[in-house]
Amino acid sequence: MTCPFCRAIENGDIFFASAHFAGIANIAPIVPGHSLLVPRRHIERLTQLGPKELAELAPAAHQVGEILGEAFRSTGVNWSIQDGSEAGQTVLHLHLHILPRCHGDMPAPGDWYPRVERWDKEILGSARRPRLPDDARAAITLRLRDIARKRGFKN
Ligand SMILES: [Zn+2]
Repeated sequence: MTCPFCRAIENGDIFFASAHFAGIANIAPIVPGHSLLVPRRHIERLTQLGPKELAELAPAAHQVGEILGEAFRSTGVNWSIQDGSEAGQTVLHLHLHILPRCHGDMPAPGDWYPRVERWDKEILGSARRPRLPDDARAAITLRLRDIARKRGFKN
């Protein structure tokens, strides 16, 4: 299996699960806590989401944002989907970036977007972006999973 998100789901390497979505701690976070919400089935585009999945997307993203907010003491959040190659998508499994934001975490608040765009270009098999060591990411996943459980979210 070559899809990194399917592999993470398959391996249980997730901190949040709803009926149709999973939350994954990013291997190359742009800010601490930068995570991905992905459909549990391998689909590429937003238009492939069924009505139940569509209805679940925003509540699931909101819950992941709450988990990240508690873990990283963030006071803001960014959501972003690159839907289609024209929009900058390169990982062909639909994914919503969720970035917890803190005051002063970047020189300007809007600096996150070019970095997300680069993330999407670089993430497949590239060593250009510094990556979290496996044990560091596993520790974050466990911490987030714990918060999700305490909040009554499935995982
Ligand atoms: Zn996949």
